[in-house]
Amino acid sequence: MTEPQQVDVVVVGLGVGGEEVAGRLAEAGLDVVGVERGLVGGECPYWGCIPSKMMIRAANALAEARRVDGLAGSAEVRPDWAPVARRIREEATANWDDTAAVERFTGKGGRFVRGTGRLAGPGRVAVGDQVFQARYGIVVGVGTRPSVPPVDGLAGTPYWTNREAIEVATLPASLLVLGGGAIGLELAQVFARFGVRVTVVEASDRVLAVEEPEASEVAAAALRADGVEIHTGVRVERVDHDEEAGFTLRAGDGARFTAERLLVVTGRRAHLDELGLDTVGLDAGQRYLRVDGRMRAGDGIWAVGDVTGEGAFTHIAMYQAEIVVRDLLDHVGRRRGGPDASGTASSIGGAVGAAGAGGDDSGPDTAGSVPRADYRALPRVTFTDPEVGAVGLTERQARDRGINVQVGFAPLSSSTRGWIHQVGDEGFIKLVADADRGVLVGATSVGPAGGEVLAGLVVAVHAAVPVGRLRHMIYAYPTFHRAIRTALDDLG
Ligand SMILES: Cc1cc2nc3c(=O)[nH]c(=O)nc-3n(C[C@H](O)[C@H](O)[C@H](O)COP(=O)(O)OP(=O)(O)OC[C@H]3O[C@@H](n4cnc5c(N)ncnc54)[C@H](O)[C@@H]3O)c2cc1C
Repeated sequence: MTEPQQVDVVVVGLGVGGEEVAGRLAEAGLDVVGVERGLVGGECPYWGCIPSKMMIRAANALAEARRVDGLAGSAEVRPDWAPVARRIREEATANWDDTAAVERFTGKGGRFVRGTGRLAGPGRVAVGDQVFQARYGIVVGVGTRPSVPPVDGLAGTPYWTNREAIEVATLPASLLVLGGGAIGLELAQVFARFGVRVTVVEASDRVLAVEEPEASEVAAAALRADGVEIHTGVRVERVDHDEEAGFTLRAGDGARFTAERLLVVTGRRAHLDELGLDTVGLDAGQRYLRVDGRMRAGDGIWAVGDVTGEGAFTHIAMYQAEIVVRDLLDHVGRRRGGPDASGTASSIGGAVGAAGAGGDDSGPDTAGSVPRADYRALPRVTFTDPEVGAVGLTERQARDRGINVQVGFAPLSSSTRGWIHQVGDEGFIKLVADADRGVLVGATSVGPAGGEVLAGLVVAVHAAVPVGRLRHMIYAYPTFHRAIRTALDDLG
């Protein structure tokens, strides 16, 4: 190993969260080393959000064309995967090449190192035979990988994870999807709409098990209408594969499912095993890297993104990145100029102020100049058709917390816009209120624009807008979001 190189900050893992933190700190004038062993940008642009949403956009276009009959004449639809694969390869991922992203980072003044970073004692990161000693801190943004269940026979078979599913150039005739969560359902519906015979096998008693049961029902019905077979409550005990017959899943009750390909989407696991957490006094066996409200995992160590276990979403990684940047710059200011951070901001080019430009320091979720993470109004969207948007607590979660729960429900089909929309109008608004406080603590919005309608509900939960005030808002007619008004009335 070479002599340690002194730098200001080392960021390990340049996915969504790490890239944002590293770039912002470099722009603020710090000497930042960014370490990435895969592609700068991480899972979201290459194998996650962006290509999967391109696939969904294409599949939804097919579905809309199939809805022309009875509404606007007739349409003949001949699906072709080639333009989708081409768009993903050329427009989304540049053939899975991160040159532009690396240049984006180095253009901000960061130093890029390709390789696997490993903690090697306080403030120290080893990458191959290079060692970096960070003056101010290390940021861990190593993300997650697919968590593959220990089913007999599965290891060693050519099963797909999200990566192979996103990279596929030619579609199989049939596909088994093991896992009925958000990613499983999104991909299942896409492939079914392109003519693949898709079977979803889920261990829980319903798909989208973390969301409201009503959302599970609507999503399952929509996928079944697209020809997807869904089997819930199935414990897969064995997987077999051969070139001729493809994959066979065998369940405990004797059921068998077969298909040409198998996609395993049964959750994610943080990349913590070989990170060297023990060298900095952190528990190497933890499932996620636990952090406080300022994203600090330990002395001089911050974490960002999926690795924190606070929600595997790009918007969480970006939200946390903002907090890390502000807290780290505050820390740098204090270290450089003593306890008065405000007086030292100028010593790093006014970077504390610049970093804070996008945030509001007021309110209960702040500590001094640095905001604390607040996940009460965490939004999540499953981009099936209809979309399933949700924020905050489900009814069950609210009851389990001892909240005096009131529920309001409005089916979209009984709203004016749903009735006009006709085919494809499945969905609803469900509100979960804390009757004692008179505010919403959670909401679900399922429908053709469920993710967009969610925005208003996120504001309501985030800002704890009184239900009385929500009732006296004006909701544009005839929008899908007007169903929120009906659901508010249903709260009683
Ligand atoms: C199919 C799919 C669809 C998705 N769709 C959405 C969506 O619609 N909306 C949404 O909000 N989220 C979506 N997500 C989730 C989203 O992709 C993640 O939340 C996001 O990528 C997390 O960013 P991150 O920075 O925490 O980690 P990642 O993006 O996983 O990046 C971590 C990086 O760290 C690198 N790394 C790991 N260990 C080391 C090491 N020791 N040294 C150096 N580098 C290392 C990895 O190579 C990786 O590039 C989707 C995910 C998938 C799989």
